[in-house]
Amino acid sequence: MDFDLAPELEELRQSVRRLARDKVKPRAREIDKTGEYPTDIFEAFRDAGLLGLCIPEALGGSGAGILGLALAIEEVAKYSNTAALMLLLTRLPTGPVLIAGTEDQKTKYLPGIADGSYRAGFGLSEPQAGSDVMGMRTRAVPDPDHKDGWVLTGTKCWMSGVAQADWYTVFAKTSEPTSRAHDSITAFIVERGWEGVSVGRLDHKMGVRGVDTGELLLDGVKVPPENVIGEVGGFRLAMLGLNAMRPIVAARGIGLAEGALMYATEYVKQRQAFGKTIADFQGIQWEIAKCAVDIEAARLLTYRSAVMADQGKFTKEYVPYLSMAKYHATELAVRASGLAVQLLGAAGYMEDHPTEQWYRDAKQLTIVEGTSQVQLGLISRGVLDGDLWWD
Ligand SMILES: Cc1cc2nc3c(=O)[nH]c(=O)nc-3n(C[C@H](O)[C@H](O)[C@H](O)COP(=O)(O)OP(=O)(O)OC[C@H]3O[C@@H](n4cnc5c(N)ncnc54)[C@H](O)[C@@H]3O)c2cc1C
Repeated sequence: MDFDLAPELEELRQSVRRLARDKVKPRAREIDKTGEYPTDIFEAFRDAGLLGLCIPEALGGSGAGILGLALAIEEVAKYSNTAALMLLLTRLPTGPVLIAGTEDQKTKYLPGIADGSYRAGFGLSEPQAGSDVMGMRTRAVPDPDHKDGWVLTGTKCWMSGVAQADWYTVFAKTSEPTSRAHDSITAFIVERGWEGVSVGRLDHKMGVRGVDTGELLLDGVKVPPENVIGEVGGFRLAMLGLNAMRPIVAARGIGLAEGALMYATEYVKQRQAFGKTIADFQGIQWEIAKCAVDIEAARLLTYRSAVMADQGKFTKEYVPYLSMAKYHATELAVRASGLAVQLLGAAGYMEDHPTEQWYRDAKQLTIVEGTSQVQLGLISRGVLDGDLWWD
């Protein structure tokens, strides 16, 4: 067992740390205020080669893997979860293609993500089907004019990056819409420019502003057979893709928590009350200590799960380990950002400090890509099935 990062990953961490301080930190508040997509940050990530961290070198990426992407996201999320989301979106929609796509799909769709000429979105959720994925109603029926082609109709919602994306990984029912059979759902690559594809309503979010979240409307969209990802009826792919994503979402949580605790710590060392700094009070010190323990525990869970995912360990027996990283790190983000607001008092509640933004941003993390309750369900299932057992 070795807890040190390989030299190239340590180097990556240090270079992203510098970039995050120089480029992301000064822009974070403005991005939140205006809600405008930060093209400058996207370009900075592109120029630094960060958009292809999860994409193999043969496809134009750097092959740093899920651990490399998680490390980069952790650094960026210290200042902006919007910027962290931009990096995450290089993996969420490309995951199913990397896991089960054909060579043609990989060579057509992935190099453009790595070099920043394309962006992508991930369409699983629907208004009536979030946690309950099997309740989706978007339907794919055989295309009468094209052998083995499909016609997609339905509405996806809450899709991150929907407005900026050039293509989407979309899941649809390829059998009866009421079916809850696992082989009733199939994944497709859908291009933004195709007839029948449009962006619908954009949401007004409480946090993580700057990357739009909203609807993707599919109105009789013809999808050729070569754009089916994996097998028809390959719903398992959605789950495998999401399982492999857990460490990456977790990294958004640990980065946010670290940023919030460091900021609050600097503040309590300055703030005077009752003739001393508030950092001199044991009650404050213990809160800092508890949060620091929490952060380190979450980092260990996150890094371990990232290594597992890079080793291809994201099938059912590894789910509890992946889910506990996402659960613990994102709940930590909520606790740590709440603590940071509390430690700053009224100042922390005001827009003069980033604490109120971290507090709003953190809450997204316990909802997206499987809520905390869904993760707890998966972890307990792992224990009940003996996948997570200590004997
Ligand atoms: C900012 C943002 C960005 C998003 N981006 C994307 C995206 O890019 N692509 C995409 O496909 N989706 C995206 N989503 C949607 C997200 O994945 C869903 O919100 C999430 O899966 C939860 O679904 P839901 O909101 O319908 O909640 P529901 O499923 O309605 O759940 C509501 C509450 O009930 C609880 N609950 C549900 N089932 C159970 C259960 N079995 N046991 C115990 N409690 C349960 C949940 O934990 C939650 O607290 C995004 C959401 C947000 C907020």
